[in-house]
Amino acid sequence: MANDPITAGIVDLLRACDPEAARVLEAEGERQESTIELIASENHVSPAVMHAMGTCLTNKYAEGYPGARYYGGCEFHDQAEDLARERAKQLFGCEFANVQPHSGAQANAATFLALLKPGDTFAALVLADGGHLSHGLKVNMSGKWFNPVFYPLHYDAGHPQFEQIDYDAAREVCLEHKPKLIMCGYSAYPRTIDFARFREIADECGALLHADIAHIAGLVASGEHPSPFPHAHVVTTTTHKTLRGPRGGLVLTNDEDISKKLNRAVFPGMQGGPLMHVVLAKAVAFGEALKPEFKTYCRQVIANARALAQSLTDHGYRITSGGTDNHLMLVDLQPRDAELTGADAETWLERAGIITNKNGVPQDPRPPKTTSGLRLGTPAITTRGLTEAEMPTIAGWIDRVLGAKGDDAVTSEVREEVRRLCAAFPMPGAGVTA
Ligand SMILES: *Cc1c(COP(=O)(O)O)cnc(C)c1O
Repeated sequence: MANDPITAGIVDLLRACDPEAARVLEAEGERQESTIELIASENHVSPAVMHAMGTCLTNKYAEGYPGARYYGGCEFHDQAEDLARERAKQLFGCEFANVQPHSGAQANAATFLALLKPGDTFAALVLADGGHLSHGLKVNMSGKWFNPVFYPLHYDAGHPQFEQIDYDAAREVCLEHKPKLIMCGYSAYPRTIDFARFREIADECGALLHADIAHIAGLVASGEHPSPFPHAHVVTTTTHKTLRGPRGGLVLTNDEDISKKLNRAVFPGMQGGPLMHVVLAKAVAFGEALKPEFKTYCRQVIANARALAQSLTDHGYRITSGGTDNHLMLVDLQPRDAELTGADAETWLERAGIITNKNGVPQDPRPPKTTSGLRLGTPAITTRGLTEAEMPTIAGWIDRVLGAKGDDAVTSEVREEVRRLCAAFPMPGAGVTA
């Protein structure tokens, strides 16, 4: 049974009218409640955010923007969107916000549509070293219809910034290829991003700077990572990762002319009707992120990531770049066990109730379906109330499961210990623990 009363209530409601859907939801509620979520891009939203999504705002078409809709009856939808936009601007300290993108990838696609023409060149990080598929993957629109050029990390193990962005090399790539747009911001990069440095490079080669802060948005909003403003011309993000809102996207800028292009690109360029129930939930999440408690939360996310990285290092794992500045880390499994792959580690840990994702490490000798690494993040476990005190325990479980190569007896033992910890740290909104 799901502990969280919102999910439990909906399971009850569905049981009467749609038992099949009820079973699926109940199982997922129980899975989330009883496992340790270490996927760096996931989080547990508050009851307020969860409730705001499940509302009558989903019934309505609100194509257009506040004050300029293509449908009648939008008075309160205008208010919902204005609330979300105003809070987003306050949160990130910028002039213009578009809260309608359905996801982070949509926000990036809208940016391309607004600022580039098919065939135009843009620069992004080598995808295998931490980038996102919307930053130029061959099978993604960004890689099919545009011309990505890639900048590297430092790959020399003796370099003081080993596995961190090689800004000088990025500058050279950009001066050579003259991209119209430079993207920074990543999916698996554990270090602070120097937005000012990227802006210098952009200015030098006549490019616009696009910061995609999908992962670190919560840390940026709370001042725990430097802001991309005033350096970036466009900032995109998801709202569901460290920002702890509903699943969705957001586009921000300080430039009025660019804001108009972005608005037209989101609607009618990319999307039809906005998901207004999600827009209301974004407003609620931004309201939460504006509170002092959110800063405390983000600080704990980072403290937990550091503690987890340290504990794993103590067990003989290598943390890429030697550590983390943010909410995530890449664990290179090779020094602990040369045979161990990210794919096996992910599968074995899941059986023990520890949810992770395999991830390539920089210059990974293995392909993306296997990999030599795991990406771990602390946003979700920090929401559940875990602190540095629990990180050695989690690292110890990870090492026990991987050291035993997923052995059933060991995995079952750890599964039970994980259940006990989860019961002591319920998900937000959960009632009395089981
Ligand atoms: C997660 C992520 C996105 C995309 O988010 P979706 O909501 O899944 O489309 C975009 N950029 C980066 C860097 C990300 O990590």
